[in-house]
Amino acid sequence: MKLPVVAIVGRPNVGKSTLFNRIIGRREAIVDDRPGVTRDRLHAEADWAGRSFLLVDTGGYLPEREDQIARAVFEQVQGAIREADLVVFLVDAQTGVTAMDEELAAELKRSGANVLLAVNKVDSAAKELSVADFYRLGLGEPVALSAQTSRKVGDFLDELVARLPQQSATPEREDAALALAVVGRPNVGKSSFVNAIVGEDKMIVTEIPGTTRDAVDTRIKHFGDEIVLIDTAGLRKRSRVKDAIEYYSTVRSLASIRRCDVALVLIDATRGIESQDLRIIEEAVRLNKGVVLAVNKWDLIEKDSRTAREFEQRMREALKNKAYIPILFISARTKQRVYKVLDVVKSVYRERKKTIKTSELNDFLKTVTERYAPPSMDRREVKIKYCTQVRSNPPVIAFFTNAPRSIRANYRAYLENQFRERFGFMGVPLTLVFRRK
Ligand code: GDP
Ligand code: GDP
Repeated sequence: MKLPVVAIVGRPNVGKSTLFNRIIGRREAIVDDRPGVTRDRLHAEADWAGRSFLLVDTGGYLPEREDQIARAVFEQVQGAIREADLVVFLVDAQTGVTAMDEELAAELKRSGANVLLAVNKVDSAAKELSVADFYRLGLGEPVALSAQTSRKVGDFLDELVARLPQQSATPEREDAALALAVVGRPNVGKSSFVNAIVGEDKMIVTEIPGTTRDAVDTRIKHFGDEIVLIDTAGLRKRSRVKDAIEYYSTVRSLASIRRCDVALVLIDATRGIESQDLRIIEEAVRLNKGVVLAVNKWDLIEKDSRTAREFEQRMREALKNKAYIPILFISARTKQRVYKVLDVVKSVYRERKKTIKTSELNDFLKTVTERYAPPSMDRREVKIKYCTQVRSNPPVIAFFTNAPRSIRANYRAYLENQFRERFGFMGVPLTLVFRRK
């Protein structure tokens, strides 16, 4: 299910970040001071009245130079128009309508975007009087609230979810086709990759209109197997407006990861793996999606026999315990190994769906625990008696033990490594659960 994207836009200081934090009910958006992390915290999943959405705060991205601010705010509004399913246009009751509000309102009206006009800083009933003035922005009835005191935030959220696009009653994909999300930072070559495989005449291409604005999936056939490329709207067109605003691109990546079976994460060979890349990978792993890494633009790298190995080694270090993720070196431009990528994606998909027989798992469990038994806790012997794969797609293996809480992280890691060595699960996060028996 694709989560609808809701963007909060408006002039500086109207209270966008305050409202964002109020809605997600946390303050972490501004407290994370690791470099490169602060900014992308400015979107989060939120829910209200049983509806979930991805909320984007455009407040934190302003340039420092005074003379560039108006331009940047305008660009943020344009980005929101392009990428969001609902734009919350926030204005300030304390200042009343300003010239910049009028300009932004005109742009929103022109675009025909789905807009909710919200008047912030209405901290008391007495301040309600100032709200009517905002009618003249021509964006319908303004909704009053106070992000700081929480006053009427509930009413505001009722309005907000009422305006989210209707989700279709039928599931988005009834078929069993592999859903592939091609994700990565702007300019890494996502469009080029999609165009490289979709442009091939061996492929039969069908566009499937998504339920949410702008989400267009593309169905291809690769040696008899159907693959649905998720949210290719922006990618196939090769947008003229290059993602000046990187966070929308990240939001878009995160939204398509949610709908996929396998995420193909592209990395730029000329830049190496960066914290943004790791965040995307971590999100895919957290959601238990299949993951394949492809280092793109490999044609630009001067190579000798060791280059790929050294590059891979550096990536492995950054990936730490995710050694199960396959890494390929490709060029969307020369099409080097782009079909190989699809082969690997398909095997990862099969790995994610497979179920290992309980008898095989238990034979192996016996060997593994005999080689290295779980360390005892408080002088009590810890025994793992039995295990079984309780689900696939994504896979979960349950271990039954007399002391589930006594299984330590390093023993868990030992089991995972052993089971992977024996049973594969390439590219697939494996969940191990320990239950009392
Ligand atoms: P942004 O630049 O639009 O993200 O605005 P901020 O969220 O940083 O808020 C700007 C200022 O307005 C801060 O000093 C907030 O404390 C204040 N503010 C935000 N919401 C309210 C509100 O509902 N009432 C009042 N009185 N002040 C608010
Ligand atoms: P996107 O923003 O991730 O969709 O990236 P694009 O597909 O638009 O590519 C960004 C730029 O990188 C474009 O100028 C592409 O021509 C270039 N590019 C993409 N893939 C490759 C590649 O494999 N090799 C080289 N040399 N350039 C590439």
